[in-house]
Amino acid sequence: MHKTRYNALRIKLHLSPRGPLLIKAGGISANPTLPDMQFVRTFHPEKGETIYIPGSSLKGVVRGFVEKALRTIDNQQSWQWACPTFPDDKASCAKRLQEEEKSSYIYGHSCGACRIFGHTRLKGRAAFTDFLPVNDIKTEIRYGVAISRLSHAVGAGPFEMEIAVAGTFEGHLILENFELWQLGLLALALEAMNQGLLKVGFGKNRGFGDVKVEVVEVTLEELAYGAQDAVWRGLGAFVGDPEIQSYRLFGPHRIEGMPAPEQVETVGFYVRRVYGPGAWHQAARHLMELTLLPS
Ligand SMILES: [Zn+2]
Repeated sequence: MHKTRYNALRIKLHLSPRGPLLIKAGGISANPTLPDMQFVRTFHPEKGETIYIPGSSLKGVVRGFVEKALRTIDNQQSWQWACPTFPDDKASCAKRLQEEEKSSYIYGHSCGACRIFGHTRLKGRAAFTDFLPVNDIKTEIRYGVAISRLSHAVGAGPFEMEIAVAGTFEGHLILENFELWQLGLLALALEAMNQGLLKVGFGKNRGFGDVKVEVVEVTLEELAYGAQDAVWRGLGAFVGDPEIQSYRLFGPHRIEGMPAPEQVETVGFYVRRVYGPGAWHQAARHLMELTLLPS
């Protein structure tokens, strides 16, 4: 069923640090108590070498938030639960379903977090692209020390940290073949990040990682058949009851009364609608209310 693309959503986001932000470069440090405190860099064909926010680091943070939210609900009759994150844990979705062949069973018996972000046997539905600077990012060098967790004494340092303090990064959150509750949870995560409840990168306990999240534009594409501008449809609206049962898709499969798009065009079999930030916030409220309220 999921070889067909039924719906897809692309949210263009701007992330701007509200204070110190440090996404550490990966790799193995020679001295584990002195990690590499440089901001991660990439090579961009036009901008040259630049600091950036890897999509994988945002995915990790948002996945963690979604898991926590799901564990507070913990309803295993539904999507509203999260498995133990470690793939080696016997109860994790990856481990429980490792011998399973049927893709509908794997999807249907994976937890809410794995249905969105995937596991070793299941491709995720959501992904963040890398976030690149859209203007000059102001960086500073700060000095820090590592505090020993046991003795509370200074363990190592001082060491240098390269932090971003101002500027804007741009990238996308992309979803494909999604259920509406998945979009509701992701909208909630973006909201939490913008409110400073969900921090990004290194030093969350030192007050690092508070970012402003701006939704610049949202593009929704879905199969044109049966499309109506004020209705958003999840995966269950495009398939029949047998698939809703076998994949255990959860409603609502349609939400009516959604805001009017700024632009509508038909592209082949698909209709493409573009929304500005105001319309998105209205849509996000509907999604959160209708998909996340305890049923
Ligand atoms: Zn899981």
